Amino acid sequence: MSRAFNFCAGPAALPEEVLAQAAAEMLDYQGRGLSVMEMSHRSSDYVAIAETAEQDLRDLLGIGDDYAVLFLQGGASQQFAMVPMNLMGNQGVADYINTGQWSAKAIKEARRFGDVNVVASSEDTRFTTVPPQASWQLSDNAAYVHYTPNETIGGVEYSFIPETRAPLVADFSSSILSRPLDVSRFGLIYAGAQKNIGPAGICVVIVRRDLLGRAGPGVPTMLDYRTHAENDSMYNTPPTYSWYLAGLVFKWLKAQGGLVAMEQTNRRKAEKLYGYIDGSGFYSNPVEPISRSWMNVPFVLADDSLDKRFLAEADAAGLLNLKGHRSVGGMRASIYNAVPEAAVDALIAFMKDFAQRHG
Ligand code: PMP
Repeated sequence: MSRAFNFCAGPAALPEEVLAQAAAEMLDYQGRGLSVMEMSHRSSDYVAIAETAEQDLRDLLGIGDDYAVLFLQGGASQQFAMVPMNLMGNQGVADYINTGQWSAKAIKEARRFGDVNVVASSEDTRFTTVPPQASWQLSDNAAYVHYTPNETIGGVEYSFIPETRAPLVADFSSSILSRPLDVSRFGLIYAGAQKNIGPAGICVVIVRRDLLGRAGPGVPTMLDYRTHAENDSMYNTPPTYSWYLAGLVFKWLKAQGGLVAMEQTNRRKAEKLYGYIDGSGFYSNPVEPISRSWMNVPFVLADDSLDKRFLAEADAAGLLNLKGHRSVGGMRASIYNAVPEAAVDALIAFMKDFAQRHG
């Protein structure tokens, strides 16, 4: 068996140890004679898996009891609707910051439910910056303020947590668990799993309990956060296997030394890669240095007619999924928690060699 280095933006690399454990437990989970996929979600074995996963996530992020942790379906995209449906309330006003394609999608969806004020945008820099908070025109009557801490496509990450009077809502899909986070600063955090949490099919929502129960009467049962909070995310059948795998990832993170250790490794990985790109004279990244994402590193070649060759040679060298998002072209290396530092070293060595041969 040989495993390649996978730089996919999502579904993304999972820790090899997690996959090995899942494989070992596939046919016979801990001597029970069945796989986790075949268990009732109401069985004591499965409930223990689910509760342990939640507790491990709480430990990793230091989540207080005043927050509910939900494991939902529908991906982060469903949260684009659930957030306004649950939080806009009677005021029907919310503030959004636009830093790229994912915030734009959240904004578009929220507009179906009320008045959305785009209080800041980095469109004028083609989404290569984060608008400084001092420039934001926050509304007096907003029910919440929504932002996207890490734009997966543009590779733009906030270097600060915004200060807001209204509850702060954040789409942490592509940067949750990459470093410690003060959850108490937020009203609600959501994150699709398929980057730093586990396989696709599950979305984590961390919501301050006082924000539950604000959905209007027209909100469907399944789209009301309170339904899931009151039923331990088992109102209906949850995506049991994804939840189990997420739990294995949380255990793996703890074994690595938790988020402080991840922060150190992730910082090193990102600094190495940006450092090489900036000094190469062949590759470039357009994002202002302070807002460069640690997780998603887009870059272009000096000559884009070499893109195809770069990708083919990288693939042949076992460096997979480096193609940039279809909307921006170029390359993108996603270097989430489960992408080891050795993968970044191998990528840089390949990039150097490629630049020497074609520069
Ligand atoms: N927000 C961000 C920041 C994302 O990166 C993604 C997926 N790449 C989404 C939302 C959408 O997630 P999903 O596909 O789980 O709906």
